[in-house]
Amino acid sequence: MTHTISSDETTYIALADAVSPLPILTPPHPTLRQKARLVQPEDIPNIQAVLPSLFAAMYKAPGIGLAAPQVGISQRFLIIDLGQKEDSSIPPIIMINPEIIQESEEMAEREEGCLSLPSQYAAVVRPESIRVKWTTITGETREYEADGLFARCIQHEIDHLNGVLFVDHLSALRRNMILRRLSKKLKQS
Ligand SMILES: [Zn+2]
Repeated sequence: MTHTISSDETTYIALADAVSPLPILTPPHPTLRQKARLVQPEDIPNIQAVLPSLFAAMYKAPGIGLAAPQVGISQRFLIIDLGQKEDSSIPPIIMINPEIIQESEEMAEREEGCLSLPSQYAAVVRPESIRVKWTTITGETREYEADGLFARCIQHEIDHLNGVLFVDHLSALRRNMILRRLSKKLKQS
């Protein structure tokens, strides 16, 4: 079953201009390394309140995805807006408790960056396409088969909900090199 992506998102995006963007955490902040907990129905009002500042943070960076742990909220939700990149037919999206239920055997290599690892990039190998299931902000269940940049971004953001950063997909040597370079850069600024 494939559903169209809902447009509830526009409400929160419209408010993003009027709020302060949330600061984005960088390593070694412990929240980035924690497994985030499932969102419960009673969490929704707080999430709705924080969404405009979450979108503001993503657009300010600028980035195409942001997960709640990156702003210090250890709960399983994330936002994605691919903008004009590659596939502009995909509107901005809020995913609550997203879950990858199927992965393609076909793998793809693509350069990734991360708003929590500013100015660091590396080629990461992941499944080319995935089937993802999530709950919308209005409580509906959705399922979608994503490929290309959208699939890549979903996998990267769901990693954040599990305390995983893109550098964890690299060799220990490459990972340590990037993290050392980043920590030097963050100390300078
Ligand atoms: Zn990231």
